[in-house]
Amino acid sequence: MPVYEFRCESDHLHERVLPIAAEERTAPCPDCGGTSRRLISAPGLSRLATAQARAISAAEDSAHAPAVVDRVPGAGDRRPARITRDPRHARLPRP
Ligand SMILES: [Zn+2]
Repeated sequence: MPVYEFRCESDHLHERVLPIAAEERTAPCPDCGGTSRRLISAPGLSRLATAQARAISAAEDSAHAPAVVDRVPGAGDRRPARITRDPRHARLPRP
């Protein structure tokens, strides 16, 4: 179940675990007893599995700091492995 944040008029912040279908927009403040309103906040991505969190972080990083390479990945001084032995394929255009 997701964690929702609530803030009251006295600026107390607290969290509640509610079903995702819950429509509670207000809750009593545990500190002052006043009415607190549900906030729109970022999801808790740190609760994802490590591999998922790493993938999301890498995707976010690539938007503003893409990885820099100094050569085409896979290219080098070695020739690519032959996939076919059909001589007609040798005449096909190369990229
Ligand atoms: Zn309060």
